Amino acid sequence: IYQPERVNSRGYDLAVRAHLNRYQELRMPYAEKIWRAGPLAAEGANAGHEIVICNPAYPDRIVGYVIEAEAETVENALGAARPWDASPAERAEVLRRIADLYEANEGEFYALLTREAGKSPVDTVTELREAVDFLRYYASQCERPEVALRKPRGVIACISPWNFPLAIFTGQIAAALAAGNGVIAKPAETTPLVAFMATRLFHLAGVPETAIQLLPGTGAEVGGLLSGDPRIDGVCFTGSVDTAQVINRSMAEALSPDALLIAETGGLNSMIVDSSALPEQAVKDVITSAFQSAGQRCSALRMLYVHQDVAEQFIEMLSGAMDELTVDDPWFHSTDLGPVIDAKAQENIRDYIAKAKAEGRLIKQIATPEEGHFVGPAVIRVNGINELEREVFGPVLHLALFGKQEQLQDIINDVNGRGYGLTAGLHTRIKRRQTFISDRIHVGNMYVNRNQIGAVVGTHPFGGEGLSGTGPKAGGPHYLPRFYADEVANDPV
Ligand code: NAP
Repeated sequence: IYQPERVNSRGYDLAVRAHLNRYQELRMPYAEKIWRAGPLAAEGANAGHEIVICNPAYPDRIVGYVIEAEAETVENALGAARPWDASPAERAEVLRRIADLYEANEGEFYALLTREAGKSPVDTVTELREAVDFLRYYASQCERPEVALRKPRGVIACISPWNFPLAIFTGQIAAALAAGNGVIAKPAETTPLVAFMATRLFHLAGVPETAIQLLPGTGAEVGGLLSGDPRIDGVCFTGSVDTAQVINRSMAEALSPDALLIAETGGLNSMIVDSSALPEQAVKDVITSAFQSAGQRCSALRMLYVHQDVAEQFIEMLSGAMDELTVDDPWFHSTDLGPVIDAKAQENIRDYIAKAKAEGRLIKQIATPEEGHFVGPAVIRVNGINELEREVFGPVLHLALFGKQEQLQDIINDVNGRGYGLTAGLHTRIKRRQTFISDRIHVGNMYVNRNQIGAVVGTHPFGGEGLSGTGPKAGGPHYLPRFYADEVANDPV
């Protein structure tokens, strides 16, 4: 595989005092800023409905205002959208310029990611890094000599979630643009401000207004109009399985048989901890996998299987480690878990935990501040993955015990049979067990003796199988070729 020279960005290590000071200095000017956003459509936008975006940690504090796109603006954008008429070398240069602009505006992105999306400082740093890495990675991929003559599909609708409002938003668009497509982007309704700021930088760097347009608005309205329109040559979607299925149906009804659908969706991700695992390491990795970003990661650990011989000690250590977690305003560096995204998410997750508590299955939960959309991280006892009806997108970990070695095969069968296939984790010091389980479990990304979140662009391409995604993996060499009209088998060459 041709791999042009490229290194991932460096970011900051906030455990180092000098880095932390620099980080705080960079974002401070934006601590009180009120942002304004709206559609960025090449033919102009109608004055639409305005919504207010509030801080999920302080729901009465305004972060900004956004004008949502109405049907007429969507129509204008569809009429004006064109593929990006530039050579691969020009496209790569502009994408790299956008990466530089992201870095030049890092302080504002950090502040906005915390205030609009509830991201902790560490999460803002990794999010910006991932966005920048996607831009530079796809720039290098579109320069591969064998793709020089390939044609783009046309116009791609990029529909993204709120949990990575910069990284996933950017990754989808960068890939579609790198292949020469035009893009109409629909960000999540809860995080349009960061999407607007990013899109402005795409324009500033030189992407034409017909090649990248932004339509803030609801999924049902704006998302539905885009995915159901035959002028769209493909939809690049990241979000829940249910929404992916709605989009798939609406594309079928629009009679676009050749249109592309890339859908990267949710998971019911499991981890197995056997009796040979290092308990301190396993507990640390469980805490990170299940609770970082308040559990709002598609890769997050949901279903933990612990060997009964070590269970008592393990649960005691896990409970102690949870007592050390700080759930608070994510602006503070000392915060481990910020809020969940909005009141609706908070209510759903709290109701789910309350039901488990009423049934006597709640093992542990941490207290939270009174105000704000916080949910205390919780551990719930179950017998296995088949008791999980759906993905609960928050800091909720399910725990089951297993006994004999033979039961491992049953666990693998249950995990595979459940249909999702995003991430899995394993803690064991027995080498042949690592191979046994990795060979049999059907997931996109398998992690052994480490946490199971935080894929790295170009190093761990990320994506799922089964209900969790259509593949190919983002941030890997097989992703970009799907955006060309003459997609061929055996890509990349
Ligand atoms: P979501 O509710 O499915 O929404 C995702 C996007 O789709 C949003 O922009 C949403 O708009 C839009 N949408 C909603 N209904 C639509 C429709 N009928 N037609 C077209 N678009 C529509 O997901 P989410 O709550 O934002 O994100 C969390 C989910 O994403 C979780 O399931 C998580 O596991 C998954 N996820 C997967 C990955 C991955 O790489 N596999 C990464 C991150 C997240 P609105 O915001 O207006 O509803």
